[in-house]
Amino acid sequence: MTAPYTGGCQCKRIRYEIRAESLTLYVCHCQECQKQSSSAFGMSVLVPRDALIILQGQRKHYQRSSESGREVSCWFCGECGGRDCFITLLVIPKLLTLSQER
Ligand SMILES: [Zn+2]
Ligand SMILES: [Zn+2]
Repeated sequence: MTAPYTGGCQCKRIRYEIRAESLTLYVCHCQECQKQSSSAFGMSVLVPRDALIILQGQRKHYQRSSESGREVSCWFCGECGGRDCFITLLVIPKLLTLSQER
């Protein structure tokens, strides 16, 4: 399987496409990832920010501070909302972290 990859949220209102190969896949056990996933860890894929194209739907957004003091932007589907949804954390300006329920 090669790019582009398509995905979306559980209720199917948000659909997106990733037009690049991922840079890495990682598992994080920090408290924020535990809260976000309601489990012992969060699993995320790192892709170039420009590679994400929203094909359909309006995402909701909120911003929080990380333990390092950085601001973290989060997007999610306002309809189905939970962890099965599409959530992105913009941690590094040109990179995008995609987190999705297992
Ligand atoms: Zn949804
Ligand atoms: Zn984490």
